[in-house]
Amino acid sequence: MRALCWTDTGQIAVRQVPDPELRNGHDAIVRVRQSATCGGDLPLLAGRAPYLADGDVLGHEFLGEVVTVGPQVRRHRVGDRVVVSSTVACGSCWQCRSGAPWCCDNGNPAPEASELAYGHPVPGAFGRPTATGGFAGGHAEYVRVPYADVGAYRIPDQVSDDRALFAADAAPAGWLAAELGGVRTGSVVAVWGAGAVGQLTARAAGMLGADRVIVIDPRDDRLRMARRHTDAETIDPRHADVPAELRERTGGRGPDVCVEAVGPAWDGRPRSLADRFTDAAERPPAVRESVHVCRKGGTVVVLGEYAGYVDTFPLGAVGAKGLRVRGVRQHGARHVPTLLERMARDELRTEHLATHRLPLEEGARGYALFRDRRDGCVRAVFSPDLPPAG
Ligand SMILES: [Zn+2]
Ligand SMILES: [Zn+2]
Repeated sequence: MRALCWTDTGQIAVRQVPDPELRNGHDAIVRVRQSATCGGDLPLLAGRAPYLADGDVLGHEFLGEVVTVGPQVRRHRVGDRVVVSSTVACGSCWQCRSGAPWCCDNGNPAPEASELAYGHPVPGAFGRPTATGGFAGGHAEYVRVPYADVGAYRIPDQVSDDRALFAADAAPAGWLAAELGGVRTGSVVAVWGAGAVGQLTARAAGMLGADRVIVIDPRDDRLRMARRHTDAETIDPRHADVPAELRERTGGRGPDVCVEAVGPAWDGRPRSLADRFTDAAERPPAVRESVHVCRKGGTVVVLGEYAGYVDTFPLGAVGAKGLRVRGVRQHGARHVPTLLERMARDELRTEHLATHRLPLEEGARGYALFRDRRDGCVRAVFSPDLPPAG
């Protein structure tokens, strides 16, 4: 089959790779119809993820059609249209049973690296290096989906592919950020970053009853989109002092919930080999700003993916202001089914986020557009069914 593979620092290409096969009774094979780029993929492309290897298939946000099921799969049949959670969880360990599939103990068959880095193994994820399980990703014609009864969700007939795609990753991440932020009726929520995850966080905050949602981003196209699709107010940091503006708009108190949906700044330059394997610290400007401006006793939610250590983190303010700091990825199994229901009821629309549609063969161009936010790109969506241009 054809698949979009990481080949070297900053380089990806479509290659012929073997078709995936069932390895376990709980597996299903899905024929991919669409897959999306995600900010979490950019550090991989930049060669900042140790253990990434030549030929690894990228992509963790995808949907398609079930073409083969293992003998123990109960919830799916051949022909089902499914969206697949970006994280791999077993559904039966202590963490999964207590409603925290992102913290699954079994989803990652290669836990050593993350155990060393974080103290505990992180779960498996599609389209990531072996440190997160080494599961081949969705930028391909076919994908093996482990624990298919847990990770794959049948898409309601009323929900289009274009809408359901973001239930794989961006929508549940935004939902969890709003939920862990403690957003409730009357909350004032500030969201840094108007990419797909930032916009879906803003939308989730509105749906959970927030009184005001304020989105901060330096790009006009994204701010327009956020205003149009999320009822959020916006601040453009190129023309405003963001903390001063947020204090002004909250009567001096500061937002109740501050969500950082920006991620580590990535300048697009490949790092040195030494940087990749040492604790080269990241500096999270949006996290620092949110800690600084968040109201006393408020909550800061960090959605960006910081691989290792961060420097100049204002820990003093966390104690002095009594802040709660929450880290988030996404608990697919807990939120995807209800998000699909909300999509079916037309309460949650996401299709506008797919600004660019390309054949797999144009993966490198799609990722470049997405990385540089060129041409209004919020997400590039690849389809293996689209014929290569030319
Ligand atoms: Zn993602
Ligand atoms: Zn589990």
